[in-house]
Amino acid sequence: MKNLKLVKSDESGKRSTFKVGNCEVGKDFIIVGGPCSVESEEQTIQTAIAVKKAGGNMLRGGAFKPRTSPYDFQGLGLKGLKILEKAKQKTGLPIITEVIDPRDVSWVCEYADILQIGARNMQNFSLLKEVGKSSKPVLLKRGMYSTLREWLNCAEYILAEGNPNVILCERGIRTFETYTRNTLDLSIVPAIKELTHLPIMVDPSHGTGKISLIEPMSLAAVAAGADGLLIEVHINPQEALSDAEQQLTPEQFSKLTAKVLKLKEFMNTSINQESKEA
Ligand code: PEP
Ligand code: MN
Repeated sequence: MKNLKLVKSDESGKRSTFKVGNCEVGKDFIIVGGPCSVESEEQTIQTAIAVKKAGGNMLRGGAFKPRTSPYDFQGLGLKGLKILEKAKQKTGLPIITEVIDPRDVSWVCEYADILQIGARNMQNFSLLKEVGKSSKPVLLKRGMYSTLREWLNCAEYILAEGNPNVILCERGIRTFETYTRNTLDLSIVPAIKELTHLPIMVDPSHGTGKISLIEPMSLAAVAAGADGLLIEVHINPQEALSDAEQQLTPEQFSKLTAKVLKLKEFMNTSINQESKEA
């Protein structure tokens, strides 16, 4: 693919891996759970405890929310980051949180273990350059109208600034289909693996926007070779201040993680074994 340098895989097929807390991203399968937005200390800490109990490896939660309407909940900002810090102290889970403004990157880094760049900001080049200068890994979501080539060029922006630790995250794209919130493009997972050395996670919460579809698409993402999942979880989804219709309860999340881990184990033992023998 033209113009790609640093994100391209080479002949050795070696994949990027890096440590975040106890996890080796790109090697271990990472399950990230947590609310769409940090709303209160109680909501975030209770959710974090449930995520950890269910086998989740990291906590997600937005303190800065890029909302379609300026009148919708915009996030708690610094107060939200401090709540995430408390949740991390309580559970030990590393924090993934979104940054939406280049001027905030340096101080959000004091709270985040991984900086999330949301779909709406995928091509915000000044933001990409700023996170590229930071020392924190970056989770780069696919823009809702973006091709694979455009997405990888955005990752290239981050690597070109000197930050090699990028995780791509497929979160669905807009198509003519309206039944689902977005169309989750799982064929991108093996395509990304062919073209780049970067880890790729899948977000079936935004990818489908429908509770009943999140578990089947999580399993499909595992089968497609994803390096991890990003799933919205809320202690009381109906009361959520954003994305209320797609957040799982702790019970639903726990059932999902159990199935996902079983499938992953099956793939590690049976399928890898067969390919070694072949
Ligand atoms: C989110 O993760 O809550 C979010 C806003 O995601 P996206 O940028 O994929 O819409
Ligand atoms: Mn959300």
